[in-house]
Amino acid sequence: MMTENAAKPPPESDAESSEAPRDFIREIVRGDLAEGRVVGVVTRFPPEPNGYLHIGHAKSVCLNFGVAMEFGGHCNLRFDDTNPVKEEVEYIEAIGADVRWLGFDWGEHLHYASDYFEQLYEWAEHLIGGGHAYVDDLTADEIREYRGTLTEPGRDSPHRAREPEENLDLLRRMRAGDFANGERVLRAKIDMASGNINLRDPVLYRILHAEHPRTGDAWCIYPTYDFAHGQSDAIEGVTHSLCTLEFEDHRPLYDWLIEHLPVPSRPRQYEFARLNLTHTVLSKRRLMQLVDEGRVAGWDDPRLPTLAGMKRRGVPPEAIREFAQRIGVAKGEAQVEVQALEACIREHLNRVAARRMAILNPLKVVIENYPQGADDRDGELLDAINNPEDAEAGTRKVPFGREIWIERDDFMEDPPKKFFRLGPGREVRLRYAYFITCTDVIKDAAGEVIELRCTYDPATKGGDAPDGRKVRGTLHWVEAANAIEGEVNLYDHLFADPDPGKDRDWLEDLNPDSLRVVKDAKLEPALAESPMGRAVQFERLGYFAADLTSKRGKPVFNRTVALRDSWARMQAKG
Ligand code: ATP
Ligand code: MG
Repeated sequence: MMTENAAKPPPESDAESSEAPRDFIREIVRGDLAEGRVVGVVTRFPPEPNGYLHIGHAKSVCLNFGVAMEFGGHCNLRFDDTNPVKEEVEYIEAIGADVRWLGFDWGEHLHYASDYFEQLYEWAEHLIGGGHAYVDDLTADEIREYRGTLTEPGRDSPHRAREPEENLDLLRRMRAGDFANGERVLRAKIDMASGNINLRDPVLYRILHAEHPRTGDAWCIYPTYDFAHGQSDAIEGVTHSLCTLEFEDHRPLYDWLIEHLPVPSRPRQYEFARLNLTHTVLSKRRLMQLVDEGRVAGWDDPRLPTLAGMKRRGVPPEAIREFAQRIGVAKGEAQVEVQALEACIREHLNRVAARRMAILNPLKVVIENYPQGADDRDGELLDAINNPEDAEAGTRKVPFGREIWIERDDFMEDPPKKFFRLGPGREVRLRYAYFITCTDVIKDAAGEVIELRCTYDPATKGGDAPDGRKVRGTLHWVEAANAIEGEVNLYDHLFADPDPGKDRDWLEDLNPDSLRVVKDAKLEPALAESPMGRAVQFERLGYFAADLTSKRGKPVFNRTVALRDSWARMQAKG
């Protein structure tokens, strides 16, 4: 039974694995509930609003919301907005929209670390009062120098011994704006010789005379992520604070803070491995650089691993949730092949995507014995199946006529034996239509094939010959008189190397051919009205979704994913 506040499950879909996921985190939660260590489960997804969410974040979103849902708890969406210099309202809005698009709902559990600034500040004074924090006048460089290294202990700051009264006075003056950026910081007083560098008197507050997207100019000191994070969890009653492995070494600091503060609850942190994907960078800093330097068209460029980019590309959220479930959650760092994500997309779209016909590299075919009408609008309407995987998707009418387009690759003037498509004198099936035989090849002055002449067999309507003769090839086609002209963006991996930056600067691994634009694709009329971002299958070619730059009568399609994994095949061939 779900409580009223429980995270809502994503829309039903039999496309997704029905088995409940099992992993070490879920085992811990199960154990905590069974042993009564917690009474309900509260998780949170805590993005910093300094960029757009990517597929790595999706792993964390699916884990946090998934665990909360499975155990009847709830998941908070909390913006960790402690660094006003890098954070923007645009990102806050985009992140919310992306989490919703992924299929999760935080209900009333929307929070901001900035809502806790007053409480966090009070706790800073509390630490000073107990002799557990001090104001330091060292510069950032000096603090770094005093901190020591992995092999050498740090040294005490000359200000470490300040009395609580003086520290309190200085912190209040920091808050009042008496000092410039960087002039002073508040540090926890823990242990400058600790083997864990995070415990060598970490900075808790810094001076930043900067406007905050939510608190405006109310503050000129801001808590560090390390000071805000665990306490925010405690304020929200988060029971299981799930984060990626790089925070494992911070856990002793979070625990220390919780032990030294009168917090209302005791969160426990568990770390899991972040998602790494081949041919992909998953770091907001790098993604931002690609956007800022104009190497991609924006945060929603369909080649980016951002959720906004994948949505625009036509990736269904169900495929991302399925992917998250298949890769699972573990402690060991690993790199997942991007093909695993593509397989999830393909499998889902195969079940749900409507089939359509489109020609990306057109070659004209004139069917000479097809009855010529009074004008070229004449012809007939044939029935085409919308989705062989889904009988309820029904059929549609596709115009057929004397002139059609086929793919240039589907014809060879001098075909080898195994080429089952069109060649001089050869017969093939046109999908949903007739058998045609190539009778003549027309070339331009340069010798390039510009048109084929064919005959059709009217008795083969629907795709079978009454005399039982067989053809090996079935081609897709688009009737010329009613075709819509469109543009198609063909995407390849944004990074040519599976591990960008492994052998050289990561930017040098950018794939110069990650986008190829087809200007004069011929599309069947049903493609005029394609909802943005909802992929259809172009038969024999792949899955494609209308882009937001589509115009009436001039659609633009993005290739979501090819029908088969041509990359893997190419690699295998060397
Ligand atoms: P990036 O490394 O891309 O800059 P981040 O960790 O700085 O990301 P946050 O906004 O702090 O971004 O992340 C929010 C949550 O998403 C955190 O709990 C973080 O651990 C998780 N997260 C970020 N990247 C990944 C990833 N690649 N795999 C799994 N979880 C991730
Ligand atoms: Mg982070």
